[in-house]
Order: sequence, then structure tokens, then C-alpha cells
Amino acid sequence: MSDMSSRRVYLDYQATTPVDERVLAGMLPYFSGVFGNPSSIDHGFGAEAAAAIEQARERVAALLHGGPRDIIFTSGATEANNMAVLGLAEGYDDKPGHIITAATEHPAVLDPCEYLRSKGWKISVLPVDECGLVDPDAVGRALRPDTRLISIMAANNEIGTVAPIAHIGRVARDAGVTFHCDATQAAGYLEIDMESMSIDLLSFSAHKMYGPKGVGALCATRAARRRIRPRTFGGGHEAGLRSGTLNVPGIVGFGLACEIAAEEMPEMAERLRGLRDGLWNRVAEGVPGLELNGHPTRRLPHNLNMYFPSANARAMMVQLKRTVALSTGSACGSAKEEPSHVVRALGLGDDRPNCSIRASIGHPTSEADVDYAATRILDAYRSLG
Ligand code: PMP
Repeated sequence: MSDMSSRRVYLDYQATTPVDERVLAGMLPYFSGVFGNPSSIDHGFGAEAAAAIEQARERVAALLHGGPRDIIFTSGATEANNMAVLGLAEGYDDKPGHIITAATEHPAVLDPCEYLRSKGWKISVLPVDECGLVDPDAVGRALRPDTRLISIMAANNEIGTVAPIAHIGRVARDAGVTFHCDATQAAGYLEIDMESMSIDLLSFSAHKMYGPKGVGALCATRAARRRIRPRTFGGGHEAGLRSGTLNVPGIVGFGLACEIAAEEMPEMAERLRGLRDGLWNRVAEGVPGLELNGHPTRRLPHNLNMYFPSANARAMMVQLKRTVALSTGSACGSAKEEPSHVVRALGLGDDRPNCSIRASIGHPTSEADVDYAATRILDAYRSLG
């Protein structure tokens, strides 16, 4: 039995996950034993590494029901999102067009869009409803003759709301507009099918799904690949779209993480959902008026975002710093010390972002962890009076 005063529980799995031990074991040989450059195809050292990359490509593509040729390995979802938005804009030869996105997107989509706005592009940032849903009909109404891209995320990193992606994909396909989907929080947790969801470009990252940090991919259909321009030039790797020697151990780990997720997803999602609902029930019992941020049913299995009426979330987090790892915004946003733009976009009042906390459950989470976290969260809430 661990000492209560020194016990720490991690409930910030949407910021990042630990590497699965099976993934780590699969990666280790590629740091020193099999160290060849996968582009050095003139000898066996390179060929071995190249074979491992191709196997990983197949595993990553299989998770999305895409083709291995569609995978462009990147350093993560930030780079993949930038490649999708800026690479596509570049493909239109400096002729500014129009992009449709939503207020709750990650900064790795919103900021490149804002950059394009400064270059003369028109950007429609659609509002969401109070559950965080984008209306596919509103996407349709925002279309213009010069719309070049629709970029809507599959599931939100802060509030967990799952978007009607297939519906938005149909709107994009009918209009002949490229559809980019940031699936960083959804991949490995929800079924994703590029073809049936009409997704042309999809970004995701290994470290949100028990793979290593610093590796991700842009999955791009053949037609979409022809529309985007590279943003990194050099040796012409990844079909000329992303030059640079490939991160072999990282990519091998990413492939394994995708393979494991594809196999274990339904069972794991059920378990995460049970623990998440248990946490909600425990905290709700002790906090009068506790409300859920995000959609009650269309949500990621491991996400919980709670509104504590009139409690200062930052002050609660200070109390919890040594015992329970939670978050008040996205990992990338929290460095900026600004209240969440996602919770603000729900339009539920000015105090909402300052009084909201995200908890995210992971594979290693136990019922005892949930119990301990709930007790500590309630202590912190009560201590604020
Ligand atoms: N998009 C979403 C939805 C995310 O949650 C994150 C990570 N917070 C990113 C993009 C950026 O991913 P990465 O850390 O791989 O750059």
C-alpha cells in the first residue's frame, strides 16, 4: 500500500501517454543494432531499416483503412497540420483562397490559418454549439467558389467532443473541396476510415496513443498529395513531400502502437469509459452543480472535462500539483497561461474557462487511481471554500 501523502496519479493522458512496453521492446533494436539509413539502399544495413519503415507504413495505414503509400511520416501532428494547411495553400501558387475551420481547433491548425490570413487568404472560423459540435450544414453554407480547404478535427483534445466527420466529409466531397481532419485525439480510440469518411488529409501523432514522442504522420490520398507542396526541401524523402532522414526507431514504434491500438481498441475504449464515468460520478457526488463540458454522449472514451461553478480551476490545480496530474487547457496551450479557447467557444459564460478542469484516463489507470484522484479533487474543491 503506497503512502497517501506521496502518491501521484497521472490523469493527463490526452497531453501524452507513456510508451507501451511492447512498443518500446520493438523499437530498441533500431537504435543501435539495426541502425542503417533507410535511404542507403545499396547495402543490407539500409535495406533492413527500409524494410522496417515499410512495415510500419503498412501498420499506420491499416489503422486508418488507408494505403501505405498515403503515409508521410512527420515529427508529429503539429508538423502534419502545418503541412496540410500551408502545403495546400502553397499548391495554389500564391493565389489566396478561402479556408473553413472551427473555433475549437488546435493551435497547430488555427495558427497556420491565421498566418495565411496575413497573406491575404480568407478564413472562416465556424462557431460550435454548447456541446462543442460543428454543424455540417454551417460548413456547407460557408463554402465559396474559392474555398480550397475544410479543416475540422475528429475529436477535441480538451472537451472530447467527437465531430460528425463523415457528414462534413460528404459536404467537402460534394463541393470538390479538400478535407483535412486533425485526428490526433481520435486515432487509436475511435474507428477511422479515410475512404468512408471522405477524408483527404489526416494528421495524427504517436505519443497520444502509447507510441514515442516526436513522430507522427500526415495521411494523404493520392489526389491530395498532388495538391500539396513540400515545406521542407532536401533529399526528397517521403515522395518529395518531407525531406530528412527518417526517425527509424520512432517510426517502428509508431507502427507497433497503431497495430496494438487496432487490435485492442474496442475493449480498451470500454474500460476507459467505465473508469471515466466512475470519476465523474464520484466528483459529481461532492460538487453541487458540477457540469460536463463537451457532448454527453458523442465524446472520447477517456476524456472528462468538468465545470466547477465559481471555483478557481488554477487554484485547485495548485492544490493538486503533487498528487493528481490534470489540465486546465491543452498541453501546448497551458504554457501561454490563457484560459481555454475551446471552453470559451462553447459560449457558456465568461467564467467557464477559468472554472474548468480536464481529466483524461489512460491504459495504466486503475479503479484505485480514480478513487484517489476523486478524493483529492474533492479535497481541493472544498479547501477553496
Ligand atoms: N492536434 C491535436 C488535436 C492535439 O491534441 C495535439 C497535441 N496536443 C496536436 C495536434 C499536436 O501534436 P504533436 O504534439 O504531435 O505536435
